[in-house]
Amino acid sequence: MKTKILIIEDEQEIADLERDYLELSDYEVHIENEGDAGLKEALENDYSLVILDLMLPGTDGFDICQEIREKKDIPVIIVSAKKDDIDKIRGLGLGADDYLTKPFSPSELVARVKAHMARYERLLGAGHKPNDIIEIRGLKIDKTARRVYIDGEEKAFTTKEFDLLTFLAENPNHVYTKDELFRTIWGMESIGDIATVTVHIKKIREKIEADTSNPQYIETIWGVGYRFKI
Ligand code: CA
Repeated sequence: MKTKILIIEDEQEIADLERDYLELSDYEVHIENEGDAGLKEALENDYSLVILDLMLPGTDGFDICQEIREKKDIPVIIVSAKKDDIDKIRGLGLGADDYLTKPFSPSELVARVKAHMARYERLLGAGHKPNDIIEIRGLKIDKTARRVYIDGEEKAFTTKEFDLLTFLAENPNHVYTKDELFRTIWGMESIGDIATVTVHIKKIREKIEADTSNPQYIETIWGVGYRFKI
């Protein structure tokens, strides 16, 4: 599917030139020559980017920019014949993503469009990245949301309990001494001692183990420390 771009521009010649160059770069382009129709089109349809002239019949580019920014996070590139207008829109902080002063070279416009689309797609991609999840039998640790579930039921974890469980689960079948765990999770500068580790392991077990006297996840290795069983 082609990326859709909206051009709101009352000078047909400029709009056509912009469209021709963008179409050569494989974008799908729609042109509106009037402010009210342009704003409506921008808000009601699924465009990935708007190229916006400032001086327009009907709603002007300043208001259009502000309205789009309030409702959508798509990139807006302002083009204007007047350098003063660009200074003004910057000053108003209307949230345009880029500015071009007419006359500009169409290839410069295409370069800017490509840069903004790449950036926008990266942002979208980051927003949709799946959470980082560790799943072992009925235990699910959502590292991104810092949440823990047992058989689908969420359990409340303190920060250190979460860090300790996650560390062990990420390094299964590895025996850690209480001292190693204390240094890893609490850090050298922390006040406390290795008994803290014992207390936290006990609390974690109460939350994740069906039978704390016969733990299925965190195993005690007598005289040494703990190991996460996988
Ligand atoms: Ca104009």
